[in-house]
Amino acid sequence: MNASGRLMEVTGRCHCRAISYRASVDPEKAGICHCTDCQTLSGSAYRVSIPAPAETFQLLTGQPKVYIKTAESGNQRAHAFCPDCGSPVYASAISDPPAYTLRIGGLDQRALLPPRRQIWCKSAVPWSASIEDIPKLARQ
Ligand SMILES: [Zn+2]
Ligand SMILES: [Zn+2]
Repeated sequence: MNASGRLMEVTGRCHCRAISYRASVDPEKAGICHCTDCQTLSGSAYRVSIPAPAETFQLLTGQPKVYIKTAESGNQRAHAFCPDCGSPVYASAISDPPAYTLRIGGLDQRALLPPRRQIWCKSAVPWSASIEDIPKLARQ
């Protein structure tokens, strides 16, 4: 539960729209991860995610492919993604997951879910903290 005591309903889909899902999230739990695994697996400078309690997560259409990532610690995580378009969907424990960590970019409500904290900052790419000063265009 967040400060207001409410979970937010979210809906999401992969880029090719084969996979769609819905869940409830606590907006206070949106976060950025700067770990090198997230950089590689997201194909970006960092990943933005939010956990959804397992009982709120519902896969509506499609079937993600799952990649099992083994961390340096030996800890394993299931990373689900669309087998057709490659969009990351969630990460979770391998068996009986308590939560599905949804990727913010796949959620329709992503603009309403600003990250509240950053983790693994020791491996952050140095320029990721200052994109505000980079010249901006409204479109490409
Ligand atoms: Zn897809
Ligand atoms: Zn990470």
